[in-house]
Amino acid sequence: MFAAAANRLGYCVHTFSPENDPAAPGVNDVTASYEDSAALSKFAKNVSVVTFASENVPPKTIATLSKLVPVRPSLIALETTQHRAREKTFLSKTGFPVTPFRIIKSVQEGSRAIQDLPGPWVLKTAGFGSDGLGQRNISSEEDLKKAFKTNGSPGFILETFVDFECELSVIAARSENGEFAHYGVMQNEHRRRVLDLTVFPAPVGAPIIRRVVDLTRHILKELQVVGVMCVEYFLTKRGDIWINELVPRPHNSGHLTIDACATSQFDQQLRAVCGLPLGPTDMIHSAAMANLLGDLWVDGAPQWERVLSLPDVKLHLYGKKEPRKGRKMGHITALAATAADARRKVLAARSLLTSAN
Ligand code: AMP
Repeated sequence: MFAAAANRLGYCVHTFSPENDPAAPGVNDVTASYEDSAALSKFAKNVSVVTFASENVPPKTIATLSKLVPVRPSLIALETTQHRAREKTFLSKTGFPVTPFRIIKSVQEGSRAIQDLPGPWVLKTAGFGSDGLGQRNISSEEDLKKAFKTNGSPGFILETFVDFECELSVIAARSENGEFAHYGVMQNEHRRRVLDLTVFPAPVGAPIIRRVVDLTRHILKELQVVGVMCVEYFLTKRGDIWINELVPRPHNSGHLTIDACATSQFDQQLRAVCGLPLGPTDMIHSAAMANLLGDLWVDGAPQWERVLSLPDVKLHLYGKKEPRKGRKMGHITALAATAADARRKVLAARSLLTSAN
């Protein structure tokens, strides 16, 4: 989606990936290890600016590239956000409201953390963990011991399980000269810890909107972000706001900006990383987005004409060859007069794609 936005605006995208990824075709694509410094140098010679589509790129790779070409958002944004311990430490040290947590490296440290933090808890691996990967609910010391045994991770975060009212996210962008633009607030619904639905605008009042947008603005500034970033929040029944996660790139909850906003998050990313003025972020329609996971392919590809015949429902497929269970293969966005109508519409549309219907 980023490459499509870039091509539309006359840019050539070169990709560097350890895997041959047909979902992101560019020109002069390089398939090489992130540690291959000769391949990285050659790649850097052909481009004017580098950005990343995943925060799991090793910092050393980004540091190598940074010496040769501007890398955006920033090495500090990548390093901080790709590791939960670093991310949460940064947030709490800088005074942001982050879900109560402890960094733990052993069962003993875990047992101490359980005494300290209100439970129940969620245990998360410190690295490589988006979309709920490497997470376990913990309600006792027994659970904690079991989780340590079955997971060889060298580091964990233990955090309080938040009994939230809803999950929110703010997608925002910051330019090289500090200009800030945001899309307002999205409401997100997860299924098995993976984003399932996004509804826009989120049905929350002006004080909550002001608070989360303000927090987002400060976080982007602190991390010297040049580009698009998503900040995920929990809103509790008492009205407290906790930051759950930072994502230093266009985010799944912002995919509906393609159809619902004046500038999509991908166009905005391109503008920010290439030093162009940021685009207007006005909402054109209320919208809802439903993810299409590989699970829908049980009996072969779904019958797309069923949604293509619906007015105000937009289909986006990512061109991924293998429809594995749980793999994000595409999404649909429904547009409507209200966010609640859009939510109903997108759910009805997706249910037409399950083979039973
Ligand atoms: P994450 O990968 O950390 O964003 O987690 C994925 C999803 O798991 C979140 O969007 C929540 O739905 C759920 N989750 C993660 N951490 C917590 C928590 N501390 N309390 C409640 N739910 C959580």
